[in-house]
Amino acid sequence: MSTLLCVPITVRDAQSALALAQAAKAAGADLVEYRLDELFEGSMEAPAGGPHPAAPAIDRLIAESPLPCIATCRSASEGGGYDGGEAERAALYERLAGAAPGKAPAYLDLELASYSKSTELRRRMDAAVRPRESGPSLILSTHDFQGRPQDLTRRVLAMQAEPSAAVAKVAFKARSLRDNLELFELLSHRSKPMIALAMGEFGLMSRVLAPKFGGFLTFAALRPAEATAPGQPTVRDLLELYRFRSIKPTTAVYGVVGWPVAHSKSPLVHNAAFEAAGHDGVYLPLPIPTPEGGSAEDAYLVFKAALLELVHDERLTFRGASVTIPHKEHLLRLARAEGWSVDPGASAVGAANTLVVHRDAAGRFSSAAVMNSDAAGILEPLREKIPHLAGLPVAVIGAGGAGRAAAYALAHEGAAVTIHNRDQARARDLADALAPSVRRVPEHASLEELATSEAAVFINCTPLGMAGGPDPNASPLPPAALRARGNPAALPLVFDTVYNPVETPLLRQARAAGAPTVDGVRMFVRQACVQSNAWTGRWPDAAMFDRLVRESLA
Ligand code: NAP
Repeated sequence: MSTLLCVPITVRDAQSALALAQAAKAAGADLVEYRLDELFEGSMEAPAGGPHPAAPAIDRLIAESPLPCIATCRSASEGGGYDGGEAERAALYERLAGAAPGKAPAYLDLELASYSKSTELRRRMDAAVRPRESGPSLILSTHDFQGRPQDLTRRVLAMQAEPSAAVAKVAFKARSLRDNLELFELLSHRSKPMIALAMGEFGLMSRVLAPKFGGFLTFAALRPAEATAPGQPTVRDLLELYRFRSIKPTTAVYGVVGWPVAHSKSPLVHNAAFEAAGHDGVYLPLPIPTPEGGSAEDAYLVFKAALLELVHDERLTFRGASVTIPHKEHLLRLARAEGWSVDPGASAVGAANTLVVHRDAAGRFSSAAVMNSDAAGILEPLREKIPHLAGLPVAVIGAGGAGRAAAYALAHEGAAVTIHNRDQARARDLADALAPSVRRVPEHASLEELATSEAAVFINCTPLGMAGGPDPNASPLPPAALRARGNPAALPLVFDTVYNPVETPLLRQARAAGAPTVDGVRMFVRQACVQSNAWTGRWPDAAMFDRLVRESLA
């Protein structure tokens, strides 16, 4: 059976919950979960002998639901809003289970802890879900919003062993990507239908990849504000961005490794490329944080442990990654330590941003290669404007990751590169480091010297002008640099690697002066094309990448 897509709905009144369920159906969901615990409070006074005041609304909601549903009255002890007595809760579930055929929920969800604690609740729930043509089935569930429960295995075995439970559900807050792998392991060994989901920013993988491992369902919110658990994706992201319906056991996994990565544009373009190429793969954000207060060595060790776990997991079919800040140097170091193949560009730049993993037919790791696609990302958009780069005077502003890639790529082509950096020693060290691998050794200079530079091309490789960066309104270029030079007199070309916003202060300044420009989206698209080609063996539609990125930044 394929994995169901379920939209959780916090019920405040029947009318609006039904409208949301209708919207969930229109969006492509298979199932809704009505969270009744906001409406059905244990403290609510029922009129003597009469039904609970919320009962008619709940009856109507379930009877008119446009999709099959799970009815859940979640206890406060597991993140819900219900803090009333168990007798009242049992009565609610009995009432729902006893509804006329076609008007009862498909599932009732109850926590394992509550079910195990009260003999009376267990007896009444067992009776309510006793097999009947149209009656509901029981989902036994366990949640931990703080982290992985220490007794996770015991809880999962207990839920699977309960004869009354049709489905076992486990959800806990992931501490790292590695927790997803444990959930996949549990799914692989399930003895009955199982929901196994990790919450929080590290848990997205478990939600998207549920179909790969035969999960019973995954939850997705209609809108981000309506998520009922941290880290829940939206239905739209699941269906359109991650192509949830096409994920199957053979689907290869790729992603962007970095910290933070939640806002990366890479999933947008790479999933679209897989779709267009008919490639059986899915591309996810793969956050690997640097430990707070830890040393640089700690950061490397955390990266190494998490990445190797993905690479060597035989079930995951992990085939590659884009690697971004702060792990590009870590990837190169790891590749050297593991004896993976390293392309000359990555070696010269001192950083790698692309990982390709080869596996045998059984899914076992066989080899890996790393490379740097940032250099091509700089070179190719520039070549479209200036085909002959040898001898061209170019000012690279910045000596970090992007600056290194730019200086290497251009000096390798024989351009006369000058690296301008705030920290001049860093610029000098970079020039020295590149010397053995380039046709023309770069010079180095201060940022102030940009004003008198004779460069025909300026490339900004600092975060100045970037949204959320150190100075979003700043341009690194003094106005004096934008003067005509040469014969015939021409203004220098200005290339900004920053792509968010697309129109940076530097590009605005250059256009106002009449100078030709290249924006950072061009670099992003080109380097992403190189990566996609490395994974699928096909060159993607660069115009589609360009359009997707610009639309998402508009
Ligand atoms: P990085 O390794 O952290 O390097 C940052 C560089 O910017 C360093 O040279 C640093 O100088 C300089 N810098 C930082 N703040 C500055 C300031 N306030 N004033 C002057 N200089 C400053 O970062 P990176 O990986 O190279 O990325 C830099 C930018 O490139 C990013 O903002 C990103 O937008 C862009 N980028 C774009 C793409 C793309 O595909 N379009 C790809 C990669 C990067 P010091 O050495 O003196 O600290």
